[in-house]
Amino acid sequence: NAAISIRNVVKRYAPSGGPGSDKEGKLALKGVSFDVPQGQIFGLLGPNGAGKSTLINIMAGMVMKTSGEVSIWGFDIDRQRRNASRAIGIVPQEIVFDPFFTPYEVLENQAGLYGIAPPARLTDQLLADVHLTDKARAYARTLSGGMKRRLLVAKAMVHQPPVLVLDEPTAGVDVELRRQLWELVKRLNDEGVTVVLTTHYLEEAEQLCDRIAIINHGALIANKPTRELVDMA
Ligand code: ADP
Ligand code: ADP
Repeated sequence: NAAISIRNVVKRYAPSGGPGSDKEGKLALKGVSFDVPQGQIFGLLGPNGAGKSTLINIMAGMVMKTSGEVSIWGFDIDRQRRNASRAIGIVPQEIVFDPFFTPYEVLENQAGLYGIAPPARLTDQLLADVHLTDKARAYARTLSGGMKRRLLVAKAMVHQPPVLVLDEPTAGVDVELRRQLWELVKRLNDEGVTVVLTTHYLEEAEQLCDRIAIINHGALIANKPTRELVDMA
């Protein structure tokens, strides 16, 4: 059984109506199909504008697909929305925290969205996992960029989903933070979490991923175990 199944997914954005805008609207996904096997680190690789964020936002329930089917952990995102959203944690590209919330509060609020009250022990464990124990009670505005990114991962894991999806987790971060984030992703995967990440760095996908799908102009152009893909190149 696949952790995520994507079938013939099409996304056409509504036309913006601005000057030079295309009347039909942008066709961002042109019928994409693939499975993410359970237990793997799966890389979605492609240049800017390929459709990676669109696909992730559809999985996250933040963008409506035009047609096609998506299921997460066997739950259809339209017909079994609650179960599907409980099975997935999303680490978005943009970092937005209320500046006067502490990491501890960020996690408690996130848990509240799922109607769960995690024991303090779990919250403490999550913060320890992302090396934020010392900052548990500090205002988010005092955290470094790296700390905020790690907090985003803890936030995505608060309801203990079997699948974690990260949108360009290392775009624009320095070498040290990139290494930290890679280690965090590997550790979660070792603990049994299926991971999907988007990236436009081939090297990152090679280092981290068991399997790589390449998307370009809204279409999947490859989907192979990393070793086969690297042998071809
Ligand atoms: P990627 O994440 O691979 O960089 P995106 O999914 O962000 O690609 O974008 C795919 C295409 O869809 C791009 O041409 C982008 O400009 C367009 N697009 C993304 N979001 C919107 C939107 N909200 N409205 C209209 N077009 C969009
Ligand atoms: P990415 O970093 O994934 O390439 P972008 O920088 O293209 O994303 O887009 C950032 C935000 O702007 C996204 O939320 C996306 O939905 C939106 N966006 C991107 N392209 C367009 C567009 N052509 N029209 C409207 N919104 C867009």
